[in-house]
Amino acid sequence: MDDADANRRTIAACEHCGALYAALEFSNETIRPIGRRDGCRCGSTEFSAIEDGSMMSTSCENESEK
Ligand SMILES: [Zn+2]
Repeated sequence: MDDADANRRTIAACEHCGALYAALEFSNETIRPIGRRDGCRCGSTEFSAIEDGSMMSTSCENESEK
């Protein structure tokens, strides 16, 4: 169930509305926001990974909401 070790944690930004989510980046370059199987709140399922440690600290707090 918990296969997080195989995937890389990152921050994803929605391609359409720019919303940020804590996300998992899979080896096939798929980005999936954690706790949002249906994608972004705007309905998009296209995300870009953001490599920025400074953003990670603020977004981590949102993860517990799921
Ligand atoms: Zn969006």
